[in-house]
Amino acid sequence: MNKPIYVTQPYLPPLEEFIPYLEKIWGNKVLTNGGPFHQQLEKALCDYLGVEHIALFTNGTIALVTALQTLRVTGEVITTPYSFVATSHSLLWNGIKPVFVDIDPNTLNIDPAKIEAAITPQTTAIMPVHCYGHPCDVEAIKKIADNYNLKVIYDAAHAFGVQDTQGSILRHGDLSVLSFHATKVFNTFEGGAIICPDAKTKQRIDHLKNFGFVDELTVVAPGINGKMSEFNAALGMLQLKYIDQALMCRKEIDESYRKLLKGVKGVRCVQEAGQAVANYSYFPILIDVDYPISRDALYQKLKDQGVFARRYFYPLITDFPMYRGMSSAHRDNLPMATDAAFKVLCLPIYPELLQSELNYIVDLIREG
Ligand SMILES: *Cc1c(COP(=O)(O)O)cnc(C)c1O
Repeated sequence: MNKPIYVTQPYLPPLEEFIPYLEKIWGNKVLTNGGPFHQQLEKALCDYLGVEHIALFTNGTIALVTALQTLRVTGEVITTPYSFVATSHSLLWNGIKPVFVDIDPNTLNIDPAKIEAAITPQTTAIMPVHCYGHPCDVEAIKKIADNYNLKVIYDAAHAFGVQDTQGSILRHGDLSVLSFHATKVFNTFEGGAIICPDAKTKQRIDHLKNFGFVDELTVVAPGINGKMSEFNAALGMLQLKYIDQALMCRKEIDESYRKLLKGVKGVRCVQEAGQAVANYSYFPILIDVDYPISRDALYQKLKDQGVFARRYFYPLITDFPMYRGMSSAHRDNLPMATDAAFKVLCLPIYPELLQSELNYIVDLIREG
């Protein structure tokens, strides 16, 4: 292959289709602060995702930070080490202590059976991640949260469009947070959102993302600037037209990988968590000890051949210097997450990945 194959490539609609959106923005000269595209996209996403209320953000990280402030979360929050570092960074930005709990080796999501032992009098919330878009055990998490009176904020950055048998996965917990970063299934170049259950909470979120302004003269909280611009909202409106097509392509790629990798010794595909509608946002495989070469050797071999797979999530969040010293960050506390971090490799998956490219990648893996 002469052109490099990256782990993901954003889907971009034809450029000329974006011109009319730009003309509208240039015409009405509303660039941000809840303009017409912002309003349209909130409405369109509620309809598409099947949720009641959504607040758009400049990115997913600011949305996570704001979600914690919305619920006035303090003290300690139980979370997973097996995620992108923004999950726990959002806690540090609020002066909250992350308490790390190990993952379930099958779903790679936080293991609900390990949560209770990590609860202390300072615990006020749980922040799980629907890793790779595979739903957490939402019922078990809710039970614990209800018993101990804890809030639940889902980092749903990977879970755009994912549904269980009852509907959107985003309706679980007190709040769910999406990312619309360029690498995600649905993107606005940069962007994010909080999904919340009621209008009053949505109003508080909207105040917090606009410096705490309630009206021209009233500021009720030390809010941040988290507003999505009209440019990004317009991109979202255009992308939304193509999302079903993009998800369909991803599904075919997922099926193809699963079929072709079946029976390859030492290579395990991560099982789906039983969701009714998946989004195929990532294609993680686990390289076991009986594979001929190590995970890192395979990673390097693919790279040398122009295939840029990624080791998500390696290193674990708990191996970064600002977390390493915490007692819950110790590897002995996180054997499953540690194991997964050393075995995982995310293979390229995006709508425009060709079958010939996929075959090339699988052949390289089969060779060992
Ligand atoms: C991408 C991502 C984020 C951060 O979202 P941004 O929009 O890039 O700020 C947070 N958590 C997880 C799990 C992510 O993958």
